[in-house]
Amino acid sequence: MEKDQLFTRRRMLLGSAALLGAAGAGGVLMSGGGDEAARTTAGLAGPQARQVLKPSAFRLQPLIGAGTPHNAVPGKLKVRHQPILRLTGKGRNMMLTFDDGPHPDYTPHILDTLAKYDVRAMFFVCGEMAVDNKELLARMAEEGHVVGNHTWDHPLLTQLTRGDIRDQIERTSDVIEDAYGDRPQWFRAPYGAWNRATFQLGAEMGMEPMAWTVDTTDWMTPGTSTVIKRVEHGAAPGVVILSHDAGGDRTQSVRAIREYLPYLLDHGYHLTVPPRRMT
Ligand SMILES: [Zn+2]
Repeated sequence: MEKDQLFTRRRMLLGSAALLGAAGAGGVLMSGGGDEAARTTAGLAGPQARQVLKPSAFRLQPLIGAGTPHNAVPGKLKVRHQPILRLTGKGRNMMLTFDDGPHPDYTPHILDTLAKYDVRAMFFVCGEMAVDNKELLARMAEEGHVVGNHTWDHPLLTQLTRGDIRDQIERTSDVIEDAYGDRPQWFRAPYGAWNRATFQLGAEMGMEPMAWTVDTTDWMTPGTSTVIKRVEHGAAPGVVILSHDAGGDRTQSVRAIREYLPYLLDHGYHLTVPPRRMT
């Protein structure tokens, strides 16, 4: 409990740091919302925002080759310069993503709701949470959810050395492989703070960088109805929703999905995930 509160406080401090960093340094790319930093796509402005909002492809095959010989190494992906922010393609597809878990108090309830409506989601897990909750990763595998890598203990990667970034990601992938059955093929930087090393290392380890389109701001515990409204008002084809199943009291996130999930389905949205394994 105390640790969660510290975690949240640290996140809020670092979230602001990430934003400041993004404004001041050209090397940092913010994704759709700055993870825990209360920005929505509507709040973005200026040249960086245009760059961030440029549609990116959501490709379900590794971008091996892509016309450049040095990329044609099996298992390696093309190095992106910005994360994927939304799904492309036709139809009313959306994706639900949950970060920072798995947490024994919250994740099972979210999994129950997803199971009730026969819907799959993505979970960007932290290694330090996963290692103590391996049975939840096994359940995710069993129920068809896709697990991504969200680093070991949620640091601001832009302040780490290349070696430390690699360590954060690699250790987490090891735990995921052990508990879930496959190494993750998707990666999300904490606070949405990406840099060149992060993109390069992710690609090297066979993971695509996945950000989000709409931040529910559930990490700020704004009230269940606000979280629901964020999702329902943000719903549109291609939208990737960011929520959290750990890192603080996530009761609101647990309650909100019980409301917005049937709403999205009633409005004709198909909730999708990328394939667990890209072959
Ligand atoms: Zn996070």
